[in-house]
Amino acid sequence: SEAIVPTTEPATSGAAPVSVVDQVQRVRAVFDSGRTRDLGWRRRQLEGMVRLLEEGKEDLARAIQADLRRSELEAVMLDLVATRSEAQLAVKQLASWVKPRRVRTPVAALPGRSWVQYEPVGVALVIAPWNYPVHLALAPMVAALAAGNCVVLKPSEITAHVSAVLADLVPRYLDPEAVVVVEGGAEVTQELLAQGFDHCFFTGSPAVGKAVMRAAAEHLTPVTLELGGKCPAVVTASADLAVAARRIAWGKVANSGQTCVSPDYVLVDASVREEFVGELTGALRTFSDGQPLPIVNNRHASRLAGLLGDCGGQVVLGGVVVVEAARAEPTVVLDPDPGSPIMAEEIFGPLLPVVTVASLDQAIAQVQRGSRPLASYLFSADRGQQDHFLREVVTGGVVINHVMLHLSVPELPFGGVGTSGMGRYHGRWGFETFSNAKAVLRKPFRPDPSVIYPPYRGWKKKL
Ligand code: NAD
Repeated sequence: SEAIVPTTEPATSGAAPVSVVDQVQRVRAVFDSGRTRDLGWRRRQLEGMVRLLEEGKEDLARAIQADLRRSELEAVMLDLVATRSEAQLAVKQLASWVKPRRVRTPVAALPGRSWVQYEPVGVALVIAPWNYPVHLALAPMVAALAAGNCVVLKPSEITAHVSAVLADLVPRYLDPEAVVVVEGGAEVTQELLAQGFDHCFFTGSPAVGKAVMRAAAEHLTPVTLELGGKCPAVVTASADLAVAARRIAWGKVANSGQTCVSPDYVLVDASVREEFVGELTGALRTFSDGQPLPIVNNRHASRLAGLLGDCGGQVVLGGVVVVEAARAEPTVVLDPDPGSPIMAEEIFGPLLPVVTVASLDQAIAQVQRGSRPLASYLFSADRGQQDHFLREVVTGGVVINHVMLHLSVPELPFGGVGTSGMGRYHGRWGFETFSNAKAVLRKPFRPDPSVIYPPYRGWKKKL
C-alpha cells in the first residue's frame, strides 16, 4: 500500500509516497463526486465500523496493551465496547437523524413550507489523543460518516501501535478512497490543517487546542474542541461515604487516571473528611492491588513526580512515582497548598488531592473560581443540594453520586465549556456537529400581491 509522508520529506524508493496535499485533494474529489451523501454508502461505512471493531478486537486490544500497558479487560471495556455501541446506535438511528425536520412557517411567509435539511459538510479532519486511542479516533468518525462526510484521521503518535493498527484496518473495512488515516505528530497535523477542511474535530489538551484553532482559523475551518481540565468531585456530609469513595477511587485508577473526565480532585465536607479518607485509601489499595499503576511514558511520569514534589499537604497513601519504569502509586494528598501546580494543572494520573471545605457553597465557589470543568461530580443524598449544585456550576456535564458514567448515555451530549472545549458529540449530537443544517423555505409562485413590493401602496400609514 502507499505510504503517507509529509510533503517536506523526500520520496523514498518503492511505491511513490503520497503527499499530505495529494491525499487530502483525492479525498476531496471523492466528496465532490457525491457518493458519500448516499444513505446506503453511509450505512455500509457504519456497518463496516462495527465489523472493524468486532473482527479487529484482538489486534486493537493487543495494541492498546502494548502502548498503555492497560489490562485487556480495561482495553476492551473502556475503549472498544463504547465505540462499537456508538457505531451500532448510528446504524439504528441513521434514518431518523437524516429526516428533514419541519418547522412552523409564520403568517408573513405563508403560503409556504419550512424545514431543516441535514447535509454533509464535506471533508472532516479528526485529530485524536493517546489516552483512549481507539475510541477517541473512531467515535468522532462514526458521527462524521453518519453525516455523509469524507474523513481524514490523524491518530496520536504516542500510541504508535494503535496508530499502525488503525492505519491497517480502516482501509480494509471502510471506503479507502473516502476515509484515510494519516500517521504522524505535530508537524503532520499542522500540514494537514494547512490544507483547509470543512470541519476539524480535535481531542486533546487545551494548549494544543489553541494551536489547532489558530491553524484552522486561517481557512475558517469550524472546530470542535474536546479538551481537558480539572474535574471536581464534591462529597457532602449526606453522602454514602463508602460508595462515594469506591466510585471516586474507580475513576482515579481506571486507565491510571489518564481520563479527561477522571475526578481530578475531591472537595470534602470537614465533618466527614476522616471517614471518607479512610474509605478512599482502602478502596484505592484494593483496586490497585498495592501496585504502582502504568503511566503512558517517562515524560508523563516525570510530570506527575513534579506535581507531587511541590504540592505541600500530607501524603496519606502512596507517594511514589517511578519515573524510569513509568509507574505511579495511587496517591492521596490531604489539603495541598492551594497555589501549588497540583491544584492548578490537570493531573491526568493516579494522584488525588483531597481538600477540606466547610460547606457545599464553599465547594461550589472553589469550583467556579477555576477554569470551567469538562465534568463535575456531586455526592449527596439531598435533592435540594443536588438542584443547587446543578443550578450553580457551569460545566460540560454532571454526574450525581457517580463519576464518568454520563459518557455511557448515548443521548446525552458530550463536550466542554470554556477552556474544557466547545461543541458536542455522541449520538445525534455528533451527527449534527458534522452536518450542515440547511434552512429551507419553499413557496408557490402565486399569490404574489403587489402590496408587498415598493412603493408598498395599500399599506396603512401607521404600522
Ligand atoms: P495533545 O493535545 O498533546 O495531543 C493531541 C493530538 O494533537 C495528537 O494527535 C498530537 O499529535 C496532536 N498535536 C500535538 N501537538 C500539536 C500541534 N502543535 N499542532 C497540531 N497538532 C498537535 O493531547 P494528549 O496528550 O494526546 O491527550 C491528553 C489531553 O487530552 C488531556 O488534556 C485530556 O484531558 C484531553 N482529552 C480530552 C478528551 C475529551 O473528550 N474532552 C478526551 C481525552 C483526552
